[in-house]
Amino acid sequence: MPAGGAGTVRLDGPPHFGQLWQTTAVDTWPGGPAPLFWSGSTRGLDAHVRFPPDGRARHLTDSKVMGETATSLEPTRATNSAPLDDEARYLAVRSRDARFDGWFFVAVTSTGIYCRPSCPSPPARPFRVRFFPTAAAAQRAGFRACKRCVPDATPGSPEWDRRADLVGRAMRLIADGVVDRDGVPGLARRLGYSERHLNRLLLAEVGAGPLALARAQRAQTARVLLETTELRAAEIAFAAGFSSVRQFNETVQEVFAQAPMALRARSNAKRDTRGGSWAVPGSIVLRLAYRLPFQPAHVFGFLAARAIPGVEEGDLEHYRRTLCLPHGSAVAELRVHTRAEGYLQCVLCLDDVRDLTAAVRRLRRLFDLDADPVAVTEALGADAVLGPAVTAMPGLRTPGHVDGDELAFRAVLGQQVSVAGARTVAGRIAAEHGRKLPDASGSLTRLFPGAAVIAALAPDELPMPAGRARAVIRLASLLASGDVVLDAGADRDAVAERLLAIDGIGPWTVAYIRLRALGDPDAFLPSDLGVRRALEARGLPGDPRSAVSLAEKWRPWRSYALQYLWATPVSSGRDTTDRRPTARKEQVA
Ligand SMILES: [Zn+2]
Repeated sequence: MPAGGAGTVRLDGPPHFGQLWQTTAVDTWPGGPAPLFWSGSTRGLDAHVRFPPDGRARHLTDSKVMGETATSLEPTRATNSAPLDDEARYLAVRSRDARFDGWFFVAVTSTGIYCRPSCPSPPARPFRVRFFPTAAAAQRAGFRACKRCVPDATPGSPEWDRRADLVGRAMRLIADGVVDRDGVPGLARRLGYSERHLNRLLLAEVGAGPLALARAQRAQTARVLLETTELRAAEIAFAAGFSSVRQFNETVQEVFAQAPMALRARSNAKRDTRGGSWAVPGSIVLRLAYRLPFQPAHVFGFLAARAIPGVEEGDLEHYRRTLCLPHGSAVAELRVHTRAEGYLQCVLCLDDVRDLTAAVRRLRRLFDLDADPVAVTEALGADAVLGPAVTAMPGLRTPGHVDGDELAFRAVLGQQVSVAGARTVAGRIAAEHGRKLPDASGSLTRLFPGAAVIAALAPDELPMPAGRARAVIRLASLLASGDVVLDAGADRDAVAERLLAIDGIGPWTVAYIRLRALGDPDAFLPSDLGVRRALEARGLPGDPRSAVSLAEKWRPWRSYALQYLWATPVSSGRDTTDRRPTARKEQVA
């Protein structure tokens, strides 16, 4: 994988992701106990607010929350672009700029409330304002969520998806519910660091330790369930990951300043519908927020073209699939929200409601909903090769996956066959070896078989050439034994190295796994046939070496550059208006 090459790439994330929260929490604001701390910028209040926010202010308190104590601050890392300072954050808040939602949270000391930057309430005076990198950090400092703007219901910070370092990996695992399932020891084990180190690092970088982050997430899940389902309080407490109803009541009261049932009553009064006619009884209807611009047909089309019969189905506007989750299986359905721009509508039928957090997290990764399309558009829009496509289709997402193992198998069996061919093979594997759903949901009848099932097969039981079947089985053994873990917490470089060592798995397959299973925003597939065709269609040399060198300037967004290349209509005398990357062969180097 080229990410380690040329000595130009930082392995802990895109270069501008420095750690930039100001560490000098000295109050220099005249006239009062102002918690706001200016970063020393000389820009006036009418300065242009740079987007995306490259940096984040940091403010630590000494208070103890759930056993987590701020200990030390990490030194500031180098950055090659200006940080977003508190002055710029305040401007973003004053202009109610929704692009910043999820990037930071703003709290007002006089009301004790924290908001998303675009909150419609009149902005507070600068000296009453504090900024936090996470909702958990605001809660930890004693602030409550605004009832008006519901700050936690924003897309997540794209920073956590982009960062390849320990903080990014930890944030992705916490989002997947690992702390609720395995506790902080489980999280630390998964990452290979001590609990203490992890705690210290998260406190320094995101203003809250793993317990506070998980608690903020439980509160958010509880609110969603209270507002969107008829589940009883005890069921919700359990589903959201609380260990007791009392803890659930206390947390909801603390975070939202309302008792759980009051929260529900309030939302009942506001709500128009519970998901429309397509919601199945017993299902949970949610809205999944994303940032604009967004081209839903691209990602829906991409998934539909690859949908495994019996496991997935879709078209340009909707998508359904079966999911294998920590506590059971599920069926998820997503579609473009017809009345609310900025949301996908999602219906989940879960065997076990405790899987709600993991299901939502995995679907968000599948659709790349935490992405920052403005940053990508800014970076690639001016590019001579990609610019026209970016201008024509701003906001393409990099489709991820709900299950790293399944994606890895699909990457191997997709070697040197067409997308349609790979789909047929995957469908046969699912039909022959996948577990049947207890209740079929329309055409969705099976789960894709897990690594343990595939590892136990003989090569001639897989419908593909023997060499490739052996590679699939070798891969399955490594995944089943836990030697290689393809989840949100994976160390991308270490995993890539392990995969490349498997006989029959080449750079294309590894890069594809990096792209979709590991959510790397900077993966590139220079030997991909679609890439070659797209470059040649633009009159450029399409050989891998030329592609690699051309792609250098698309860092750190080469995964998105790929989407624009793949979306290139390739003239072959066929219908060139179809921009879906369907009939293209994907091949190994
Ligand atoms: Zn608000």
